[in-house]
Amino acid sequence: MERVYNFSAGPSMLPIEVLEQAQKDMLNFNGSGMSVMEMSHRSKWFDDIIKEAEADLRELMHIPENYKVMFLQGGGSTQFAMIPLNLMVKGTCDLVNTGQWSKKAMQEAKKFGTVNVVASSEDKVFNYIPALDKSKFNPDADYFYITYNNTIYGTRYTELPDTGNVPLVADLSSMIMSEEIDITKFGLVFAGAQKNIGPAGVTVAAVREDLIGKAKADCPTMLDYKVHADASSLYNTPPCYAIYIAGLVFKWLKKMGGVKEMQKVNEEKAAILYDFLDNSMMFRGTVVPKDRSLMNVPFVTDDDDLNAKFIKEATANGFVNLKGHRTVGGMRASIYNAMPVEGVKSLVEFMKKFETENK
Ligand SMILES: *Cc1c(COP(=O)(O)O)cnc(C)c1O
Repeated sequence: MERVYNFSAGPSMLPIEVLEQAQKDMLNFNGSGMSVMEMSHRSKWFDDIIKEAEADLRELMHIPENYKVMFLQGGGSTQFAMIPLNLMVKGTCDLVNTGQWSKKAMQEAKKFGTVNVVASSEDKVFNYIPALDKSKFNPDADYFYITYNNTIYGTRYTELPDTGNVPLVADLSSMIMSEEIDITKFGLVFAGAQKNIGPAGVTVAAVREDLIGKAKADCPTMLDYKVHADASSLYNTPPCYAIYIAGLVFKWLKKMGGVKEMQKVNEEKAAILYDFLDNSMMFRGTVVPKDRSLMNVPFVTDDDDLNAKFIKEATANGFVNLKGHRTVGGMRASIYNAMPVEGVKSLVEFMKKFETENK
């Protein structure tokens, strides 16, 4: 069976071991005589699956007791509404605009209160993380919102804003478990699973307990963190199969040595690609070097026809989904946890060959 190197920004590749385990479990999970898709979410089997997934996630991210972990639905995008509905008690938030996902979060938050845009990198098509001027922070804001890794533009924070007593809220969708973060610096983090931890359908959130239970009175039940926290993510039928696969990914990550070891591999992979881009006469990265993402690497040649030719030939050679986002153009290689070092090395070899042939 041929597998391609899949550089998709999401849904993206999963570890082969995880897919093989899912295949083994497909017809008869753990002696249940049924697949995980067919069993009650109130069954003993699923209870073990979700409890282990939560325990492993807490262990991998060092999430302390005073945070609730939730498996939610509606993707990262539903969090854009759920956050203001639950946290905007006084009615304002600070936000840094680093791209399309921050903008969508901003547009949604504006429906519920005032959004103070502290800084933006829109002037240069979001190819950097803007410097933050503390005098622009609102000390009375309900929360301060950032997009940690910008999937489309390929930037990431390497230093967090010091927001004092204002809870920091972060969208970790495209970087969760790719590098170590100190969860205690955040009031709330969330991530749609389909980039780094599993299939689409489940969204993981970790919320500090003091921020739970303050939802507006007219907040829909399904959008209230307290409802899900109190019910241990079993208020209604959760996305059982997606949680099961995410759980297998967590076990795989633990076997790999956890997030710390994964980070080393990710730094190695990113360095291989960026080093090549910095030395190539044909290809170049589009992001300011100090803000480069470890996960999403946008790059271009200076010729649109050459970009198209590259994408076409790469696809024919088993390097798929390299087309850049329509707002940036060119190419983007997403090299999440499941992408092996070998995949990045092979891509760079292919790029070298393409460069020689198309001088
Ligand atoms: C993909 C993505 C989202 C949106 O996720 P959905 O699950 O499709 O709603 C939000 N934020 C970031 C950073 C993303 O990469």
